[in-house]
Amino acid sequence: MQNKILLDESRIPTHWYNIIPDMPGPLAPVINPRTLQPVTPDNLLPIFPMAIIEQEVSPERWIPIPDAVREIYRLWRPSPLYRARRLEQALGTPARIYYKYEGVSPAGSHKPNSAIPQAYYNKLAGIRRLATETGAGQWGSSLALACSMFGLECTVYMVKVSCTQKPYRKSMMQLWGANVIPSPSITTAAGRAILELDPDSPGSLGIAISEAVEDAATHEDTNYALGSVLNHVCLHQTVIGLEAKEQMAIAGDYPDVVIACCGGGSNFAGLTFPFIADRAAGKEVRCVAVEPSSCPTLTKGVYAFDYGDTAKMAPIAMMYTLGHDFVPPGIHAGGLRYHGESPLVSQLYHAGAIEAKAYPQTACFEGALLFARNEGIVPAPESSHALKAAIDEALLAKEEGKEKTILFGLSGHGQLDMGAYDSFLSGSLEDYAYPEELIRESLTRLPKVGG
Ligand SMILES: *Cc1c(COP(=O)(O)O)cnc(C)c1O
Repeated sequence: MQNKILLDESRIPTHWYNIIPDMPGPLAPVINPRTLQPVTPDNLLPIFPMAIIEQEVSPERWIPIPDAVREIYRLWRPSPLYRARRLEQALGTPARIYYKYEGVSPAGSHKPNSAIPQAYYNKLAGIRRLATETGAGQWGSSLALACSMFGLECTVYMVKVSCTQKPYRKSMMQLWGANVIPSPSITTAAGRAILELDPDSPGSLGIAISEAVEDAATHEDTNYALGSVLNHVCLHQTVIGLEAKEQMAIAGDYPDVVIACCGGGSNFAGLTFPFIADRAAGKEVRCVAVEPSSCPTLTKGVYAFDYGDTAKMAPIAMMYTLGHDFVPPGIHAGGLRYHGESPLVSQLYHAGAIEAKAYPQTACFEGALLFARNEGIVPAPESSHALKAAIDEALLAKEEGKEKTILFGLSGHGQLDMGAYDSFLSGSLEDYAYPEELIRESLTRLPKVGG
């Protein structure tokens, strides 16, 4: 029996799977934050290329992956699918545990799956530079990589505190040629306004988004790129699930449950959407999104129209949200600290098509340690949420004395997160109480859209 299932490069998917035509019901409109009217393509053209805007609302189930993108995917795709035999033994479970590993990309996570096509479509549209924001640095480094592949300039507004907390992510971006600007900065009006009020502002993701969007909107040759949440990002990530389905078939198995961590929802969408498509054909498969209990968007948020960013510059979308000005506690899984959620993932959850679960971070790090000591790979703190849920499913199977096939997404490695592992190992890592009061307060400030 095989331990890792590898596909030949020729098996890299030729098309992305678009779930829009298979959604339970029509999509809610996306709303312009200034006019409170539905967004039109014209509203988006100053910051996105037309090809991306079209993908955002495409009714086509299968969208061809350009050859130039597949050519770069070949550097690390198809990614391996592993059977976690040693973890199964350590848990003494009758369950079979598989994981799809996205940490083999040059940036160490799934994010280049979308950064590469985004850079490509912008290059094709004659754009010279991309601007973006980054918190912990995973998206910034992925876009820096993609821009270097297509000869684009890249400006990354990096949350100021993260520049000091994650200096190596900054080095990585610079190594790939990006210009990294600590945010808030004097480069933009949005940044200057913040600095005037508070010269020592540590910055936030919301502020950095405002700076990047302003930079793109005010420069003809510059566009903006977002690393999660939007429909086109979920679309690009489906290469994960499409490959995983083929690899599971080679293993002669099919998952009873598919699990992924959920921040903005892109790796969850990428792994699970192709399996959700199977349910229409009568397959029984559960999909579980896992989030931190200190930022419990699906499990404790409301399904409502809300701004995509703190500064209310990004479009308003119908999604699960904790309120656009809710600032989650500083957990180490930085990629899961987003107040909102992909509208597609939100709609599926609202329709009961997927499940959600939340865990505190120490439980996830315990799972990560068990995994690293048995399977070897050091998981990203984000991925350890999926891993923890997979372990619990396996322990439940043991309790019930039942066989079960579990597939989870290991969205990235944690080799640049040693600071987090350090505090876990030294016992100084803490769990934050669920910030109920803050969330309740933030939810009173949702925008009033429609009736
Ligand atoms: C960014 C990130 C996430 C969270 O983002 P999603 O869009 O929810 O997938 C998860 N895992 C890793 C390794 C990340 O870098």
